[in-house]
Amino acid sequence: MRRVPGNRPLRLALAAASLAAALGACDRTPTDAASEAAAVSRAVHGITQERVAAHVAFLASDAMRGRRTPGPDLAAAAAYIAAAFRAAGLVAGGDSGGFLQPYPCTGVVTADWPANVIGLLPGSDPARRVEWVVVSAHYDHVGVGTPDARGDSIYNGADDNASGTAALLEVARALAALPKRPARSVAFVAVSGEEEGLIGSAYFVAHRPPAVAQLIADVNLDMLGRNAPDVIYLVGDSLSTLGGVAAAQATAHPELGLRPRSLNDATYLRSDQLSFAIARVPALFLHTGSHPDLHRPSDETGLIDSEKLSRAARLAFYLAYAVASDPARPAWTPQGERMLPLFQPIDATCSAGS
Ligand SMILES: [Zn+2]
Repeated sequence: MRRVPGNRPLRLALAAASLAAALGACDRTPTDAASEAAAVSRAVHGITQERVAAHVAFLASDAMRGRRTPGPDLAAAAAYIAAAFRAAGLVAGGDSGGFLQPYPCTGVVTADWPANVIGLLPGSDPARRVEWVVVSAHYDHVGVGTPDARGDSIYNGADDNASGTAALLEVARALAALPKRPARSVAFVAVSGEEEGLIGSAYFVAHRPPAVAQLIADVNLDMLGRNAPDVIYLVGDSLSTLGGVAAAQATAHPELGLRPRSLNDATYLRSDQLSFAIARVPALFLHTGSHPDLHRPSDETGLIDSEKLSRAARLAFYLAYAVASDPARPAWTPQGERMLPLFQPIDATCSAGS
């Protein structure tokens, strides 16, 4: 989650927007619904509290020193994510046959450029595998800075956004474990430079691999591990049909214990879904809300509700699976269409000294 942007006209327009989401549930007619449902159930049960907690504990440890863009700590986090994508069996979607997609950064030698991490899961339907659903999460945070009253200067970013990154890794592993892949292809994109102005996600959208030309949706995960057990926000849910799909998945899976709340305000401008919306790709942001530890050294692993995080990750799995499987293609609602001209690129570039 980046700092509050100062785009007053857009914030007002979003605040005035109706909260009514277009609830367009999609019917699916799988040829072997029972066995497919059983496989999905097995895969989703593999997303456990222990697994997401382990990812958060690694990424938000003091040793990672807050994963600032650019830097060696960010690079160490990228290597962890790439290893997880490789272990899941994803296809490398970065440069030079690897998982990393480095991007230019002023004052940094080419070999040390920061990177996005891209893992690809090709779809099973020859006609629809050219259509890509992106699941995104930023893995960078703000690094080491001003100490708090306890003398802690490491901004661990456990919720922001080791939590969403952990969910991304588990959704990727679970989707890749399905015996029959969804019809559409899914790109798992861990971006960096979010805190500096959505730099990594903007770079991915502008420079994505040729195979991933046709983006049809982005599901962005940012801050998924805090607040009351049943609270989850569907940020931007009235802007596209993705809001209705997500709400329908939560309803279809009451065992998740998540009661989605609509949110159509300036929060939509504060994470990487904006980079996709600017490119006219329908995008939804899953988020469990802010808290006083945001962008403070106290955003620590011990405050993460990993059991809730595992349930949020399961919802993200069901959402990605539905979007990648449903015949209907996500679309902006009329309200979203009205907002699109207001989504403008952020003037931010990577710099070693920023
Ligand atoms: Zn943040």
